[in-house]
Amino acid sequence: MGRVFGEIEGVAVGATFADREALHRAGVHRPLQAGISGAAADGADSIVLNEGYEDDIDRGDEIIYTGHGGRDPSTGRQLADQKLTLGNRALAHSMLEGLPVRVIRGPKLKSAFAPPSGYRYDGLYLVDDYWTTTGKSGFQIIQFRLTRYAEDRSAWPQPTAPTAEELKTPSRRSTTVQRIIRSTATANRVKLLHNHACQVCGVRLETPAGPYAEGAHIMPLGMPHSGPDTASNILCLCPNHHVLFDDGAVGVNDDFTLIGVPGRLRTVRRHPVAAEVLRHHRERHGLASKDLP
Ligand SMILES: [Zn+2]
Repeated sequence: MGRVFGEIEGVAVGATFADREALHRAGVHRPLQAGISGAAADGADSIVLNEGYEDDIDRGDEIIYTGHGGRDPSTGRQLADQKLTLGNRALAHSMLEGLPVRVIRGPKLKSAFAPPSGYRYDGLYLVDDYWTTTGKSGFQIIQFRLTRYAEDRSAWPQPTAPTAEELKTPSRRSTTVQRIIRSTATANRVKLLHNHACQVCGVRLETPAGPYAEGAHIMPLGMPHSGPDTASNILCLCPNHHVLFDDGAVGVNDDFTLIGVPGRLRTVRRHPVAAEVLRHHRERHGLASKDLP
């Protein structure tokens, strides 16, 4: 089963689990020891706050969480610098993609918000910043600020890594239920097909947490257009061209020449773009080719 971002069905905020094994079985936090559950390439789906590291701050709805690495496993003392790798990089990736992180507080946490016993699921948080600083130990540590996310959770993204078969068949529908989301499994697949390079300008944004691009639905998913969440309705764009495309400053002709900027849409064979959705986009924004200077 893939990594689940967001709520776990049947687990309410405030649900308490006897131990790490119970958290693992419920799918709330999979690793039995690690504090961060995640992978650098897909983000962190949950963290456990338990030990109360010297540089952590817990204000309930806002948490300053120190990453992992460089600690003596028996004493928990910091003995070396931390690096933006493994779980730390996964948390950075969650910030990049705006993914929700389940936060669990454990009984050993030195905070007013610690549960009296067991491990309590405290809901979803977003990573909104991270930085490197010198910790109280004198070593470089990586810290993350997580803030509680309390809105409607029905719209959380569920990114999944594409299978080899999915990469071969771009038209295959994702099994993800269609929702109005920022990052669908299909959008992630399209980004991989373009190696995260913008289809308008070719730029691939490199960040310490990995390459960044956005999956732009040509015909929007939401009402009233109700476009499909299929690869042929998605472009891989840099944030600038995503804004310009959504606002109709940039369009694409049937022959893939661009409107509003010079050049042609960059295409790859395994990612065909549907002419009818491009036409729909042009019509929605009054971008008929003949009207252009
Ligand atoms: Zn671009």
